[in-house]
Amino acid sequence: MGEERANNFIRAFVDEDLASGRYAEVVTRFPPEPNGYLHIGHAKSVCLNFGLARDYQGSCNLRFDDTNPVKEDVEYVESIKDDVRWLGFSWDERLYYASDYFDKLYECAEKLILSGHAYVCELSPAKVREYRGTLTAPGQNSPFRDRPANESLDLFRRMRAGEFPEGAMFLRAKIDMAAPNLNMRDPALFRIRRATHHRTGDKWLIYPMYDYAHCISDAIEGVTFSICTLEFEDHRPLYDWVLEKLDWPEPRPRQIEFARLNLEGALMSKRKLLQLVKEKRVDGWDDPRLPTLAALRRRGVTPEAIRLFCDRIGVAKKDSWIEYEWLEKAIRDDLNPKVKRVMAVLDPLKVTLKDWPQDEVLTVKAPFFPDDPEKMGYRDLKLTREIYIEREDFSLDPPRDFYRLALGREARLRWSLYIRCEEARFDQDGVLTELICSHSQEPQAPAKRRPAILHWVPAELSIPAVARLYDRLFTTPRPTGDLEKELNPLSLVERPNCRLEPALSQISPGERFQFERLGYFYLEKAADDKGPCVFNRVVTLKDSFAKTRNK
Ligand code: ATP
Ligand code: MG
Repeated sequence: MGEERANNFIRAFVDEDLASGRYAEVVTRFPPEPNGYLHIGHAKSVCLNFGLARDYQGSCNLRFDDTNPVKEDVEYVESIKDDVRWLGFSWDERLYYASDYFDKLYECAEKLILSGHAYVCELSPAKVREYRGTLTAPGQNSPFRDRPANESLDLFRRMRAGEFPEGAMFLRAKIDMAAPNLNMRDPALFRIRRATHHRTGDKWLIYPMYDYAHCISDAIEGVTFSICTLEFEDHRPLYDWVLEKLDWPEPRPRQIEFARLNLEGALMSKRKLLQLVKEKRVDGWDDPRLPTLAALRRRGVTPEAIRLFCDRIGVAKKDSWIEYEWLEKAIRDDLNPKVKRVMAVLDPLKVTLKDWPQDEVLTVKAPFFPDDPEKMGYRDLKLTREIYIEREDFSLDPPRDFYRLALGREARLRWSLYIRCEEARFDQDGVLTELICSHSQEPQAPAKRRPAILHWVPAELSIPAVARLYDRLFTTPRPTGDLEKELNPLSLVERPNCRLEPALSQISPGERFQFERLGYFYLEKAADDKGPCVFNRVVTLKDSFAKTRNK
């Protein structure tokens, strides 16, 4: 893939374990819960897990962690597969589901009961909480803790048979109610859940807890490095405990934690993303303003840009926040050498060249990639008497720092002539409708500074288009999810009357361009009988936030 192989502490662990002979190969897994679409945070984990497997000639499994029957959905399973593939990774035939292991997980639970390491507890949820103790006070043993193994086994089998209602009892590990780590205070292993599972249907009335299922699933698959986010650090003793008490053969998987990606301006909790989608605050899971991979793809971001971003941010052991500009920078750096520069006007203002003959068309060749003209070839620009420029490139009452066009001022048309604004015309409502300009090959008056260069398109020969301009979905850099207060009303601005230069008459969805001075754009939809083609702005040309910050 050509991206730089980042050095990080995880690779140091891997090297150490390979050198010591603890493992003969690298097996990782990416374990999404199918309860939402993948987001840019998941991409970090995908790149890390699949990247390690690639670099060490090992393998990476895709495993759906579908132990919670209530929130999961087949739609999510398919979207996750699409997204991992799109990011450029392959699990080959190693596609697994934690639910494939329900029988084995059940069998292991019976084993733990018989060896005295698990028991069925009938405390109510409120009592369980009360007995758990606190960070400073030890917990208390459940009165059911020392019941005979046979009694627990009988109850556990009857739990499975559906003899008891939800919450009546649960299976828990027998570890240590006084352990300083709360996760070790007799955690739950299996609970009763009368729910239909998207894969196992109604076969099961009890479901394993995440901590219990995860380590065993890893071990079943022969995973060597079970890489997860930092909040699981305190769960590692339990991860190891379960496999040890099951006498799982060595080598057992090693859990390694890393800091999750926190990206400023992006809300990443799946629960909150789901809320945005359900409340129709956005146009589905792939709304280009969301940080989901489906959204970034629809917006026009490439998988290479996301991998580049993940490489650059690296992997650390300490939580931190990444500025959104890092993602934008990676997107620009990826697109910059790849896409053609063309001209488009988002908000057209008509300019009439008063001395230009009515039907004359001046054709000029201009390179698609000015920094290296031969790289992408040339196209024809067509200059006519009537053209469009960007409305905001003209000011009736130019402020001091306005360098563009104004009455009596000169500007240059990109790749073409100089124009000088002689007159501005308005409609009855006082809206500016047209500029009347003279033109020349060379500047007409010696300017104090070089005139601005404006992008333009010919009026008649240009192609209509719609452009969608995106901004941050939230007004705060670290949104809490308070939608009423934090949603940015200008996160989507549609420009319905854009005009494209004539060379763009034969383009297809999926193509990307740099519209000069405006940003990188992605053609989402071709023109059809319902309307013109639709472009998404992938990213602006400059870091627009930095600009406002420096003001
Ligand atoms: P959420 O809390 O939003 O539901 P999750 O962590 O529960 O997300 P999973 O589907 O369980 O989502 O995540 C699959 C994998 O992706 C896990 O290994 C998890 O550690 C990793 N992951 C999730 N979010 C991030 C993130 N922001 N940065 C890095 N890795 C992440
Ligand atoms: Mg999770």
